[in-house]
Parts: sequence; structure tokens; C-alpha cells
Amino acid sequence: MDVASILVLVAMTIASVAYIVRPFVSSERAMVADGEDGYSHLQVKRERILERLQELDMDHALGKIQEHDYQAQRARLVASGAEILRQIDHLWSEDPIEKAVLAHRQDTISKGANHVIGANQKPAEMHSSSIACPDCNAPISPDDLFCARCGRRLKAEKGDV
Ligand SMILES: [Zn+2]
Repeated sequence: MDVASILVLVAMTIASVAYIVRPFVSSERAMVADGEDGYSHLQVKRERILERLQELDMDHALGKIQEHDYQAQRARLVASGAEILRQIDHLWSEDPIEKAVLAHRQDTISKGANHVIGANQKPAEMHSSSIACPDCNAPISPDDLFCARCGRRLKAEKGDV
């Protein structure tokens, strides 16, 4: 056997190994993508689109892609990303457990928000109701000699009668 035929043999071996291995690799990928439920499948899709968007933005920043192509591809990716988000929302609203979790979460968030607003509101209300300009009703501090908004004199200066 000469060198040339050995090289051919090696090349053929590599090619056939690649040919045999490839279906396994791609089917494994497909299994990962399909996941146990539709939700993780959609999440994988969403991540892929985000990756593609980042690559596209990078190519655009480096001037590797024409402005027209960039805009077209980006619009397509954003559209399919929006579609996947819509499907994820749909899945969530279909699933009673996710629905309950989501409702509970929103409830907690709104309660937390109310609490924070309530805590912030009280001192402000007290302040504005205790002292306000008699002319324009703007909040003023007890030390102010004049109203900051309308300029009305609030305190009699020394010497005034
Ligand atoms: Zn005033």
C-alpha cells in the first residue's frame, strides 16, 4: 500500500465516521430541544433567536452585513421571537399550575407595591396638609419666608406691622 492509498483510506474513514456520528448528534440535539414539555422547547427556541440577534448585531457593528439585509433579517428574527413569546404566554395561561403561580406572583407584587406606596405616601400627605401656601396651595416649609411658587410673603419680617 502506498502513501496515497493510505491517505485515501484515512479520508474515507473520517468521512464515514462523520457520516455515522452526525445523525446521532443531530437527533440528540433535537431531543434536547423538544424537552419534556413544550415550555422548555420554546425557551430553547427563544434563546437561539436571541443568540442569532446578538450575532446579527455583532455582524452589523463590524460592517459584515449590508444595512438592508440586516434590517430584513432582524425584523424576521424579532417577529419569530415575538411569536415564541406569545406561545409561551399561551402555554402559561393553559397550564392551571402555572396560572396559579402567576396569579399568586402578581398578587404578591401588587401587595408589595401597595405597601411601598402606602409607606411613602403618609409623610408626604402629612407634610402637604400641615403647611401650604394660603394663595396657591403649594407645599412650603415652616422656615420659608416666601412661597417658592407664587412669591407670597408667609412670615412677617421684623419691623413689619
Ligand atoms: Zn404660593
